[in-house]
Amino acid sequence: MILEVKDFNVTYVNKHKRVYAVKNVNFNIDKGDSLGLVGESGSGKSTLAMALLRLLSKKSTEISGTANFLGRDLVNLSEEELKEIRWKEISVVFQKSMNSLSPVHRIRTQVEDIYRVHNPKAAKEEIRDRFTYLLKLVNLSDRVYNLYPHELSGGMLQRVSIAISLLNNPKLLIMDEATTALDVVTQGQILDEVVKMEKEMDMTRIMITHDMSVVATSCNKVAVMYAGEMMEMGYVKEVLKNPLHPYTEGLIASFPSLKGKKEKLKSIEGFLPDLSKRYEGCIFAPRCSKVMDICKKKPAEVKMDNGTVVRCHLYGGETDEE
Ligand code: SF4
Ligand code: MG
Repeated sequence: MILEVKDFNVTYVNKHKRVYAVKNVNFNIDKGDSLGLVGESGSGKSTLAMALLRLLSKKSTEISGTANFLGRDLVNLSEEELKEIRWKEISVVFQKSMNSLSPVHRIRTQVEDIYRVHNPKAAKEEIRDRFTYLLKLVNLSDRVYNLYPHELSGGMLQRVSIAISLLNNPKLLIMDEATTALDVVTQGQILDEVVKMEKEMDMTRIMITHDMSVVATSCNKVAVMYAGEMMEMGYVKEVLKNPLHPYTEGLIASFPSLKGKKEKLKSIEGFLPDLSKRYEGCIFAPRCSKVMDICKKKPAEVKMDNGTVVRCHLYGGETDEE
C-alpha cells in the first residue's frame, strides 16, 4: 500500500463560518493503482488532494485524521519534511499548470531551475537527458526543450507540465482536472500517454475529474465523492458496470455514453447541500430517488463481495453515528 487515508476531515474556517469540505473519508491506494476521484465541482475532490499535499493555508483550514504515505503521516509532517516529499515523491499537475510556466524564459531554463531545487549540483546535460526522455514519454519532440511557452499549443504546454511533474520520478502523481481544458482528441491522447508512461515509470496516480469517461479510460479504481463524503469506491470495471450508490448511478447516467454514442445528457435533480451545515442522515437523501425512512440516519460504509465499498442503506442497515 502506498497511501492509506483514514477518518480524514478538512474544514475551512473563518471568523463567521465553518465549511465542512471533506468528511470522514477513508481510502487506500496500492502501488501501481490509478484511482479516479470523481464528483461534481464542489464535492471536495480538490480540497482532499490539496489537504493531502498540505497545500492549504494553515490559518484557514483544520485537518484531522491520518494519511499514511509509505510510513509517514502527511497530516503531521513538518514543513521541512513536506518539502522533501512534495514534487519529489508526490507530484501534482493542475488544470492551470501550463499557465505557471514563465512566458519570458525558455522551457530549458525553467526545467533546469526546477530540477536543481532537489538536485542542486545537477549538470545541464544530465537535466537535458532526463527531460528529453520525459518529453518522449508525453509524445513531444526534443526540440521543445529550447522553445518558449508561447511557441507551444495548449495541449503541448500541458504535456510539458506533466513532464515537469515527473522530473524527480515521483511515486505518486496527482492530476487535478489536468486534461479538462483540452479538446477531446488531445485529452484522449494525453490519457493514453499517461497510462503508458506510468507503467514504464512504476508510478501510482490519483486522477481528479468530474468526467466519468476520463476514469473509464485511464483508471483501474474509482472513488465517488459527494458533498465532501465518499459515496462509493471500487474497481472501475465493477462500478461502471454495476454502480451501487444512487449518486454513482446518476453520475454515470449524466455522461454521454462512455462508448462515444451521443445521448441526451441527464442530470441529477437538485443542488449540492450547504456545506456550512451539519447534516444528520444520508447527505444525498434530498436528491435520492430511492430514499427510505432509515436514511434519516447516517449510513455506514459497507464492503461488498466484489470489493466495492458503498455508503448507502440499500446495502445494509448499519448506521454510522458521529
Ligand atoms: Fe438514497 Fe438512502 Fe442510499 Fe442515501 S442512504 S443514497 S438516501 S437510499
Ligand atoms: Mg476542483
